[in-house]
Amino acid sequence: MIFLKTDEEIELLKISNTIVAKTLAEVGRNIKPGITTLQLDKIAETYIRDCGAVPSFLGYNGFPNSICTSVNDQVVHGIPDNYELKEGDIVSVDCGALINGFHGDSCYTFAVGPISHEVAALLESTKAALYSGISQAVEGKRLGDVSAAIQAKAEGDGFSIVREFTGHGIGRNMHEDPLVRNYGPSRRGLKLRKGMVIAIEPMVNMGSKSIYIKKDGWTACTTDHLPAAHFEHTVAIGRDKAEILSSFDFIEK
Ligand code: MG
Ligand code: MG
Repeated sequence: MIFLKTDEEIELLKISNTIVAKTLAEVGRNIKPGITTLQLDKIAETYIRDCGAVPSFLGYNGFPNSICTSVNDQVVHGIPDNYELKEGDIVSVDCGALINGFHGDSCYTFAVGPISHEVAALLESTKAALYSGISQAVEGKRLGDVSAAIQAKAEGDGFSIVREFTGHGIGRNMHEDPLVRNYGPSRRGLKLRKGMVIAIEPMVNMGSKSIYIKKDGWTACTTDHLPAAHFEHTVAIGRDKAEILSSFDFIEK
Protein backbone atom coordinates (compact mmCIF):
# COMPACT_ATOMS: atom_id res chain seq x y z
CA MET A 1 0.00 0.00 0.00
CA ILE A 2 1.36 3.38 -1.01
CA PHE A 3 0.90 6.31 1.38
CA LEU A 4 0.59 9.60 -0.47
CA LYS A 5 2.06 12.53 1.44
CA THR A 6 0.54 15.97 1.89
CA ASP A 7 2.64 19.09 1.25
CA GLU A 8 3.00 19.48 5.03
CA GLU A 9 4.28 15.91 5.36
CA ILE A 10 6.74 16.49 2.53
CA GLU A 11 8.06 19.51 4.46
CA LEU A 12 8.59 17.24 7.48
CA LEU A 13 10.37 14.71 5.26
CA LYS A 14 12.61 17.51 4.09
CA ILE A 15 13.58 18.28 7.69
CA SER A 16 14.51 14.62 8.34
CA ASN A 17 16.44 14.39 5.08
CA THR A 18 18.31 17.63 5.75
CA ILE A 19 19.51 16.17 9.05
CA VAL A 20 20.68 13.08 7.14
CA ALA A 21 22.41 15.29 4.55
CA LYS A 22 24.25 17.26 7.23
CA THR A 23 25.17 14.05 9.06
CA LEU A 24 26.72 12.65 5.89
CA ALA A 25 28.70 15.89 5.49
CA GLU A 26 29.88 15.67 9.10
CA VAL A 27 30.98 12.06 8.53
CA GLY A 28 32.63 13.07 5.24
CA ARG A 29 34.64 15.81 6.95
CA ASN A 30 36.13 13.15 9.22
CA ILE A 31 36.96 10.59 6.54
CA LYS A 32 40.72 10.25 6.32
CA PRO A 33 43.27 7.44 6.43
CA GLY A 34 43.45 5.89 9.89
CA ILE A 35 39.89 6.58 11.07
CA THR A 36 37.79 3.51 11.74
CA THR A 37 34.29 3.00 10.43
CA LEU A 38 33.14 2.59 14.04
CA GLN A 39 34.48 6.08 14.84
CA LEU A 40 32.47 7.39 11.87
CA ASP A 41 29.40 5.67 13.28
CA LYS A 42 29.83 7.45 16.62
CA ILE A 43 30.23 10.81 14.85
CA ALA A 44 27.00 10.15 12.93
CA GLU A 45 25.02 9.02 15.96
CA THR A 46 26.15 12.02 18.03
CA TYR A 47 25.30 14.44 15.21
CA ILE A 48 21.84 12.92 14.63
CA ARG A 49 20.99 13.02 18.35
CA ASP A 50 22.31 16.59 18.69
CA CYS A 51 19.75 17.51 16.01
CA GLY A 52 17.02 16.02 18.21
CA ALA A 53 16.52 13.09 15.85
CA VAL A 54 16.93 9.34 16.26
CA PRO A 55 19.12 7.15 14.01
CA SER A 56 16.66 5.15 11.88
CA PHE A 57 19.04 2.25 11.30
CA LEU A 58 20.01 1.59 14.93
CA GLY A 59 18.16 -1.58 15.96
CA TYR A 60 16.33 -1.85 12.61
CA ASN A 61 15.81 -5.62 12.21
CA GLY A 62 18.61 -5.88 14.76
CA PHE A 63 21.13 -3.71 12.86
CA PRO A 64 23.74 -2.77 15.49
CA ASN A 65 24.75 0.76 14.38
CA SER A 66 23.53 4.17 13.19
CA ILE A 67 25.08 4.08 9.71
CA CYS A 68 26.04 1.41 7.21
CA THR A 69 29.69 1.71 6.12
CA SER A 70 30.48 -0.39 3.05
CA VAL A 71 34.14 -0.36 2.06
CA ASN A 72 35.50 -1.23 -1.42
CA ASP A 73 33.97 -4.61 -2.42
CA GLN A 74 31.20 -4.21 0.15
CA VAL A 75 28.06 -3.13 -1.69
CA VAL A 76 25.63 -2.23 1.09
CA HIS A 77 24.77 -2.86 4.76
CA GLY A 78 28.38 -2.96 5.96
CA ILE A 79 28.57 -2.92 9.77
CA PRO A 80 30.92 -0.31 11.25
CA ASP A 81 33.91 -1.95 12.94
CA ASN A 82 37.57 -1.39 13.79
CA TYR A 83 38.72 -1.39 10.17
CA GLU A 84 40.97 1.64 9.59
CA LEU A 85 40.31 3.37 6.30
CA LYS A 86 43.36 3.75 4.09
CA GLU A 87 44.26 5.91 1.11
CA GLY A 88 42.67 4.60 -2.07
CA ASP A 89 39.66 3.05 -0.30
CA ILE A 90 36.09 4.02 -1.04
CA VAL A 91 33.42 3.90 1.64
CA SER A 92 29.70 4.26 1.14
CA VAL A 93 27.95 5.77 4.11
CA ASP A 94 24.22 5.09 4.27
CA CYS A 95 22.32 7.05 6.91
CA GLY A 96 18.76 7.41 8.17
CA ALA A 97 17.22 9.76 10.73
CA LEU A 98 13.77 9.97 12.30
CA ILE A 99 12.25 13.20 13.56
CA ASN A 100 8.63 14.48 13.74
CA GLY A 101 7.51 10.94 12.85
CA PHE A 102 9.19 10.89 9.43
CA HIS A 103 12.37 9.24 8.19
CA GLY A 104 15.17 10.57 6.01
CA ASP A 105 17.40 8.20 4.03
CA SER A 106 20.44 9.01 1.89
CA CYS A 107 23.78 7.49 0.96
CA TYR A 108 27.04 8.84 -0.46
CA THR A 109 30.18 6.99 -1.49
CA PHE A 110 33.33 8.81 -0.38
CA ALA A 111 36.88 8.44 -1.63
CA VAL A 112 39.58 8.14 1.03
CA GLY A 113 42.32 10.37 -0.36
CA PRO A 114 43.26 9.91 -4.02
CA ILE A 115 41.65 6.93 -5.77
CA SER A 116 42.31 5.30 -9.14
CA HIS A 117 40.71 6.77 -12.28
CA GLU A 118 38.75 3.55 -12.72
CA VAL A 119 37.21 3.74 -9.28
CA ALA A 120 36.54 7.48 -9.65
CA ALA A 121 34.67 6.65 -12.87
CA LEU A 122 32.55 4.11 -10.98
CA LEU A 123 31.58 6.73 -8.38
CA GLU A 124 30.78 9.34 -11.04
CA SER A 125 28.69 6.89 -13.05
CA THR A 126 26.71 5.69 -10.03
CA LYS A 127 25.93 9.24 -8.96
CA ALA A 128 24.98 10.18 -12.53
CA ALA A 129 22.74 7.08 -12.72
CA LEU A 130 20.97 8.27 -9.56
CA TYR A 131 20.31 11.72 -11.08
CA SER A 132 19.25 10.09 -14.33
CA GLY A 133 16.63 8.12 -12.37
CA ILE A 134 15.54 11.25 -10.51
CA SER A 135 14.98 13.05 -13.85
CA GLN A 136 12.21 10.50 -14.52
CA ALA A 137 10.54 10.85 -11.11
CA VAL A 138 7.73 13.09 -12.32
CA GLU A 139 3.98 12.81 -12.42
CA GLY A 140 2.68 10.73 -15.33
CA LYS A 141 5.87 8.73 -15.79
CA ARG A 142 6.06 5.15 -14.56
CA LEU A 143 8.32 3.55 -12.00
CA GLY A 144 9.95 1.58 -14.84
CA ASP A 145 11.09 4.86 -16.39
CA VAL A 146 13.13 5.58 -13.26
CA SER A 147 14.56 2.05 -13.23
CA ALA A 148 15.42 2.01 -16.93
CA ALA A 149 17.16 5.40 -16.79
CA ILE A 150 19.40 4.21 -13.94
CA GLN A 151 20.24 0.98 -15.72
CA ALA A 152 20.97 2.69 -19.04
CA LYS A 153 23.50 5.07 -17.46
CA ALA A 154 25.39 2.54 -15.32
CA GLU A 155 25.45 -0.24 -17.91
CA GLY A 156 26.18 2.25 -20.67
CA ASP A 157 29.35 3.13 -18.76
CA GLY A 158 30.31 -0.56 -18.62
CA PHE A 159 29.31 -1.22 -15.01
CA SER A 160 26.70 -3.60 -13.60
CA ILE A 161 23.58 -3.13 -11.49
CA VAL A 162 22.99 -5.11 -8.32
CA ARG A 163 19.61 -6.84 -8.49
CA GLU A 164 19.07 -8.00 -4.91
CA PHE A 165 18.46 -4.57 -3.36
CA THR A 166 16.15 -1.77 -4.42
CA GLY A 167 14.98 1.68 -3.51
CA HIS A 168 11.67 2.12 -1.71
CA GLY A 169 8.87 4.38 -0.64
CA ILE A 170 9.61 6.30 2.56
CA GLY A 171 7.61 8.25 5.11
CA ARG A 172 6.45 7.29 8.59
CA ASN A 173 8.21 3.99 7.87
CA MET A 174 11.75 3.85 6.54
CA HIS A 175 10.72 1.24 3.98
CA GLU A 176 7.32 1.60 2.36
CA ASP A 177 5.83 0.54 -0.95
CA PRO A 178 6.67 0.73 -3.79
CA LEU A 179 9.93 -1.11 -4.51
CA VAL A 180 12.10 1.05 -6.76
CA ARG A 181 14.24 -1.22 -8.92
CA ASN A 182 17.49 -0.03 -10.48
CA TYR A 183 16.90 -2.05 -13.65
CA GLY A 184 14.05 -3.07 -15.91
CA PRO A 185 11.99 -1.88 -18.86
CA SER A 186 10.72 1.68 -19.22
CA ARG A 187 7.00 2.50 -19.53
CA ARG A 188 6.08 -0.30 -17.12
CA GLY A 189 4.95 -0.40 -13.54
CA LEU A 190 3.22 2.01 -11.25
CA LYS A 191 2.18 5.40 -12.60
CA LEU A 192 3.88 8.13 -10.59
CA ARG A 193 1.81 10.84 -8.93
CA LYS A 194 2.31 13.85 -6.75
CA GLY A 195 2.46 12.92 -3.07
CA MET A 196 4.64 9.84 -3.62
CA VAL A 197 8.00 10.00 -1.89
CA ILE A 198 10.64 7.46 -2.84
CA ALA A 199 14.26 6.71 -2.01
CA ILE A 200 16.18 6.03 -5.22
CA GLU A 201 19.45 4.20 -4.60
CA PRO A 202 21.48 2.57 -7.35
CA MET A 203 24.09 0.06 -6.23
CA VAL A 204 26.61 -0.34 -9.02
CA ASN A 205 29.48 -2.83 -9.34
CA MET A 206 32.66 -2.33 -11.31
CA GLY A 207 32.69 -5.99 -12.37
CA SER A 208 30.01 -8.66 -12.21
CA LYS A 209 26.60 -7.93 -10.70
CA SER A 210 26.91 -11.03 -8.52
CA ILE A 211 26.98 -10.54 -4.75
CA TYR A 212 26.92 -12.64 -1.59
CA ILE A 213 26.04 -11.91 2.04
CA LYS A 214 28.78 -12.29 4.64
CA LYS A 215 28.42 -14.49 7.71
CA ASP A 216 27.40 -11.44 9.79
CA GLY A 217 24.06 -11.73 7.99
CA TRP A 218 24.19 -8.10 6.77
CA THR A 219 27.19 -7.15 4.65
CA ALA A 220 26.66 -7.60 0.91
CA CYS A 221 29.93 -8.03 -1.05
CA THR A 222 30.76 -8.41 -4.70
CA THR A 223 31.60 -12.02 -5.59
CA ASP A 224 34.57 -10.93 -7.71
CA HIS A 225 35.76 -8.55 -4.95
CA LEU A 226 35.85 -5.60 -7.33
CA PRO A 227 34.57 -2.32 -5.85
CA ALA A 228 30.94 -1.22 -5.68
CA ALA A 229 29.35 2.20 -5.24
CA HIS A 230 26.04 3.35 -3.78
CA PHE A 231 24.34 6.75 -3.90
CA GLU A 232 20.84 7.51 -2.60
CA HIS A 233 18.45 10.44 -2.50
CA THR A 234 14.95 10.70 -1.07
CA VAL A 235 12.75 12.50 -3.61
CA ALA A 236 9.16 13.68 -3.85
CA ILE A 237 7.46 13.11 -7.20
CA GLY A 238 6.83 16.50 -8.79
CA ARG A 239 4.54 17.83 -11.52
CA ASP A 240 7.42 18.74 -13.85
CA LYS A 241 10.48 17.91 -11.78
CA ALA A 242 11.22 15.77 -8.74
CA GLU A 243 11.96 17.58 -5.50
CA ILE A 244 15.12 16.15 -3.96
CA LEU A 245 14.49 16.20 -0.19
CA SER A 246 17.98 15.01 0.78
CA SER A 247 21.07 16.85 -0.47
CA PHE A 248 24.72 16.32 -1.35
CA ASP A 249 25.38 20.08 -1.21
CA PHE A 250 26.64 19.99 2.37
CA ILE A 251 29.09 17.24 1.41
CA GLU A 252 30.31 18.75 -1.81
CA LYS A 253 30.83 22.36 -0.72
MG1 MG B 1 19.76 4.33 2.70
MG1 MG C 1 17.11 3.43 1.34
